[in-house]
Amino acid sequence: MSNIMEVKFSAKSENESLARVIVASFAAKLDPTLDELADIKTAVSEAVTNAIIHGYEEDKSKLVYIRCEIEENKIKVVVEDRGKGIDDVQIAMQPLYTSKPELERSGMGFTVMESFMDDVKVSSIKDEGTKIVMTK
Ligand code: ATP
Ligand code: MG
Repeated sequence: MSNIMEVKFSAKSENESLARVIVASFAAKLDPTLDELADIKTAVSEAVTNAIIHGYEEDKSKLVYIRCEIEENKIKVVVEDRGKGIDDVQIAMQPLYTSKPELERSGMGFTVMESFMDDVKVSSIKDEGTKIVMTK
């Protein structure tokens, strides 16, 4: 049975945990294992953190958008920002690449998303924003 959920929230880091919990409760309908649920939460957390820190440079007046879809025992999670966008997605997705080494970022966010979810697609347009589509 298909199901859809959409939510938007201010780009504040305190909302990262909210996003994780919302997506996890929605995903609970799939009757996932605790490990699967933890994987989804971690991936959501990485994508939302990126939207806030990189996409919006922590501008709290901006909004992060999440859309989830359950279809045939799979969940699709879309995390979107209308922020600054990514110059080169291929480079950005490489393990250890970070544009903010001064913030002690490790450049592992995309690698974590890819290892914890079955599929991760990133589309981004400079000065328009970034969209991450993840399925599991
Ligand atoms: P970590 O996630 O380990 O703390 P990180 O955020 O730098 O470090 P990734 O999450 O892998 O590493 O992201 C790699 C790079 O891609 C970022 O440093 C940033 O330059 C760019 N990036 C990622 N998400 C966005 C986004 N939503 N908007 C703009 N740039 C982004
Ligand atoms: Mg990151």
